[in-house]
Amino acid sequence: MGTPAQRREELKAVWRQAQSCTNCQQLAATRQTVVFGSGNADADLMFVGEAPGANEDKQGLPFVGQAGRLLDTLLEEIGLERGDVFIANVLKCRPPGNRDPLPQEIDACQTYLFRQMELIEPRVVCTLGNFSTKLLRGDPSTGITRLHGREEVRRIGPRNVRLYPIYHPAAALYTPQMLEVLRTDFARLPELLALDPLPQPEPEPEPELVVPEPEAATEIETEREAAMEIEAEREREAAQLGLF
Ligand code: URA
Repeated sequence: MGTPAQRREELKAVWRQAQSCTNCQQLAATRQTVVFGSGNADADLMFVGEAPGANEDKQGLPFVGQAGRLLDTLLEEIGLERGDVFIANVLKCRPPGNRDPLPQEIDACQTYLFRQMELIEPRVVCTLGNFSTKLLRGDPSTGITRLHGREEVRRIGPRNVRLYPIYHPAAALYTPQMLEVLRTDFARLPELLALDPLPQPEPEPEPELVVPEPEAATEIETEREAAMEIEAEREREAAQLGLF
């Protein structure tokens, strides 16, 4: 779907839309920021966690607390850094007191995540823990303990991806055995990224374009200038955030 630049522009539009989301009244009322996700908008590897915690909520960025530091270390161990990947969560807003995401919140927020995957076009989607694994596999009954470290090809939205569930870094923080399993699973990521790209389904036909009546040249000129001004403003906004 489009060039990387076009997909990035569209991702910025989705980011803008998410900033004022009120789909979940409680989360919208208690959040400090909407944590959309960050990283490379054209990444081959995308991580999907659960939901922002207190640090993420404050900074507007995913995985910036203790679990995030472990994620950085694990990335470094396989020769990657944050700028190489995209990191997002199932929920874009912090559940108060870090409670588990509610089913209705997951439902309400999932269009953002699916749209992110559609626009970033990752080849490998690495789910961190139960919530993202269950959502993206569409199977709420099989948990991460059974699934971790085993990749499978899945169609998610319009694309085929290699889905790779692993333990959530927060779960491994205080359990050395789990950290070892996480490290071993993480070490397989370069191998998965080196596999041939998956064949992709035929794109759905675009809806028919309605061609508008031609307008007076001066109006078009003014509109174009206004559009360029809006675009410049958007560029400033995104650059300021440095998200992707
Ligand atoms: N845990 C998550 O699942 N996501 C974050 O962004 C931080 C901690």
